[in-house]
Amino acid sequence: MEKLKLKSKLKRPISDGKILIVDDEPINCEIMQHMLGDLYKVSSVCSGEEAIEACLSDKPDLILLDVMMRGISGIETCRLIKDNEETQHIPIIFITSLQEEQQEADCWDAGAVDFVTKPVLRVELRNRVRAHLTHKMQTDLLLSLSYVDKLTGAYNRHFLDDVLPKIEKQSKRKDTPISVMMMDIDWFKLYNDEYGHLKGDQCLREVADNIAEVLTRPVDLLFRFGGEEFMVLLIDTNKEGALHVANEVLETLRLKGIPHPKSLFSYVSLSIGVATFLPSDNDGMLADTIQQADKQLYKAKSTGRNQVKV
Ligand code: GH3
Ligand code: MG
Ligand code: MG
Repeated sequence: MEKLKLKSKLKRPISDGKILIVDDEPINCEIMQHMLGDLYKVSSVCSGEEAIEACLSDKPDLILLDVMMRGISGIETCRLIKDNEETQHIPIIFITSLQEEQQEADCWDAGAVDFVTKPVLRVELRNRVRAHLTHKMQTDLLLSLSYVDKLTGAYNRHFLDDVLPKIEKQSKRKDTPISVMMMDIDWFKLYNDEYGHLKGDQCLREVADNIAEVLTRPVDLLFRFGGEEFMVLLIDTNKEGALHVANEVLETLRLKGIPHPKSLFSYVSLSIGVATFLPSDNDGMLADTIQQADKQLYKAKSTGRNQVKV
């Protein structure tokens, strides 16, 4: 079977792992950075406040957190990170010189996955980090696989349900539009009739790969919405931008020219409906925009296919 271009992006090598060191003594950050820098992408900050910022903006895979810090303490920082839905999955290892049992219990309670005691030993740090990072990346991989359609490698409806509210919230917070592209393969039933279901499946994969190729920005999301129906969410994209992307998808498929003798166009094409969600429209819901895009898709179908309607 042909390797899925979309799916092969999910697995990250461990050297891709991002480690965030949090310590109010710059020398400690430097030492640990030196111990790990050849293996991973390491960065450091000097306070709990900065750590929380960095977690939201940079999404580290693992945090090495000093317990005693000026400003908010390590334990409080850990609690805040674990309380936030966006950051709670990031494992935290405490770096500590604490000896007392109660203090250790507080660290576990705050949500730590492990401890490294000061003075930090290179062998210990490197091995603990590797173990936790491996676990984190395996968990990430399993989660992302549960969000992906097995046949095409595009995201599935289950993921759509999970991200839709988040995307809508983000769009309202940043006051940026989102465009929805709803796409359906033209005369696909006839394609299956002509070539059989296995070739049909292969065709679905190729179409998904071709759509994904047009989406060059990593924030844009491709979903398999139904049998031979795909949807794209174009983040921070207005109507004109979406129209441009949609036409590019059609052009890509035209150039690709997957044979479809029963189609009026003789190649596999899509009909596309586009609608744009504007956060300034206060009562608007992103789910309604999806419905509007679906209506436009219907229009594109009923007035000739292989075209975009906005
Ligand atoms: P239209 O241009 O109006 O969209 O016509 P159509 O034939 O594409 O639409 P219709 O909804 O009548 O048929 C969709 C077909 O898609 C029916 C089904 O056999 C096929 N299909 C849906 N899911 C899969 C799949 O996973 N694999 C294959 N091979 N075919 C699928
Ligand atoms: Mg169809
Ligand atoms: Mg359909």
